[in-house]
Amino acid sequence: MDERVNAASIEDKAGVMTQHELAIMGSSSAIGILGGTFDPIHIAHLRLAIEAREALSLAQVLFVPAGQPPLRKPPQASAAQRLAMVTKALSAMPEFTDIFLVDEAEVVTHMASYTVKTLERLRAQYGVRRPLVLLMGADAFAKLPLWHRWQDLFGLAHIGVATRPAADTNVLSDNNLYTQVAAWQTNVGAGETATQWSMDSIIQRIGLPADISHAPAGRIVPFSITPLAVSSTLIRQRLAAKHNVRHLVSDHVLDYIATHSIY
Ligand code: ATP
Repeated sequence: MDERVNAASIEDKAGVMTQHELAIMGSSSAIGILGGTFDPIHIAHLRLAIEAREALSLAQVLFVPAGQPPLRKPPQASAAQRLAMVTKALSAMPEFTDIFLVDEAEVVTHMASYTVKTLERLRAQYGVRRPLVLLMGADAFAKLPLWHRWQDLFGLAHIGVATRPAADTNVLSDNNLYTQVAAWQTNVGAGETATQWSMDSIIQRIGLPADISHAPAGRIVPFSITPLAVSSTLIRQRLAAKHNVRHLVSDHVLDYIATHSIY
């Protein structure tokens, strides 16, 4: 991927970029990575990307649909369908052309999707100095110690944690990351967290958006987004019940779901 970003073309696309924003969109500005099952992609995923880009001054956001997510039951839509839905959702936002991109690698390998592997690949692609920010909702962050080689993630990227309403999760609804980290012990058991990675070493990583540009990886940066109690589960349930989901997913995605009778 070409990491040179042409300021004039960004201005054309974004329309209202300030000089400050243009300055931070240079070749060293951070790249966001939003992995997910996207079964299907919905408005909260898109808002997460939009608001993360603003809050964390990201040059681009890569949407990375998981091939076979290892920690959950198989998605209802095929990998190809989930990839198609992400592509369609992004194509409906022309102002983000060249800013929001789809990374197909996990989908095309047909292997179990491990974020650490994806980050190793992207780190090789972007070089050792470029700040990378793995984006996730607070529900995903709360389960981080279940992820394959999760400690290695901090050497590869920052982690940007978005507030998410607790509607369908057991995540604490306040936006206090300290509490979230403490909740790891009840979510996944105290063992590894307590012995190998003290709470302190995690808490020391918590930083501010401005920290992202000072290092390529290693910080945990909370940021708040417009709360939207939407989930793919909710969309699937509504569709299964023949309820309307317009405006919860993009129209192009809705048409695709209907055409292919996915849910
Ligand atoms: P499902 O209901 O099938 O578990 P989901 O809606 O959580 O799906 P995923 O594709 O698993 O969607 O999520 C991808 C990422 O988007 C995760 O990091 C998740 O935390 C985040 N995310 C999803 N929905 C929201 C939301 N409403 N607010 C904030 N973050 C969200």
